[in-house]
Amino acid sequence: MHIGCHLSSSKGYLAMGQEALRIGADTFSFFTRNPRGGSAKAADLPDMLSLRELLEREGFAPLVAHAPYTYNLCSDRESNRQFAERSMREDLERLEALPGNFYNFHPGNHMKQGSGQAIHIIAASLNSIMWEGMGTTILLETMAGKGTEVGRSFEEIASIMEKADLGDRLGVCLDTCHVFDGGYDIVNDLDGVLSEFDRIIGLGHLMALHLNDSRNPFGSHKDRHEKIGLGTIGTECFGRIVNHPALKDLPLILETPQEDNDGYAREIAMLRNMYAP
Ligand code: FE
Ligand code: FE
Ligand code: ZN
Repeated sequence: MHIGCHLSSSKGYLAMGQEALRIGADTFSFFTRNPRGGSAKAADLPDMLSLRELLEREGFAPLVAHAPYTYNLCSDRESNRQFAERSMREDLERLEALPGNFYNFHPGNHMKQGSGQAIHIIAASLNSIMWEGMGTTILLETMAGKGTEVGRSFEEIASIMEKADLGDRLGVCLDTCHVFDGGYDIVNDLDGVLSEFDRIIGLGHLMALHLNDSRNPFGSHKDRHEKIGLGTIGTECFGRIVNHPALKDLPLILETPQEDNDGYAREIAMLRNMYAP
């Protein structure tokens, strides 16, 4: 079982790896730059290489870096689209120092252009961002369908992937809160949701999970995360997820609201305790 949580990158790369170890994690996620701003810290190559060495030594599962929420590849404003493309390309170039990991992003908001148009734009952008032989796999995140979010259904995710050229470097990160809010009933029919995923996208493309409980009812299209067991998804469902044959080997990333990382340490311990293959 591979589990971790979102960590702050404010103290650098090696510090994230050490913090992950402290809280019982063997994977984690982090923003590739400040989520509210656009400016990247100057790449700290020695720090990244120290993290890389720690990950190998400690046998970490792949990390799931997260693109800032401010990127919108399918914005209706050209300058926003260009900013997102340029920033994603820079993030991916920097991540070459940590090869073999994942880079997860939100497909975007179509801003009334319609999801069909947005799907074309996103796929075309991916084709210009990605390159042959890149060391990172890009993951599209399943979204709750709030506002004009793209990626609200498995069909929308699949059609972006079908239109992209370097499909072997593309995968999916399934967010439990988002799919539940989006109308996929993982609580009462996890197997049904996963077979739908398999039919439309293919389970072979499922690379990582975001584990979040939800503050809102099924199908609400809201996207408010809750601590594991305290929301509308509930502990039992997470017990089934961590033991599910199609999911149990994937990196599981917590993005639950916590006061500090000790809260994540408790959640990681609780989920590891539920793992009983
Ligand atoms: Fe996300
Ligand atoms: Fe998420
Ligand atoms: Zn969310």
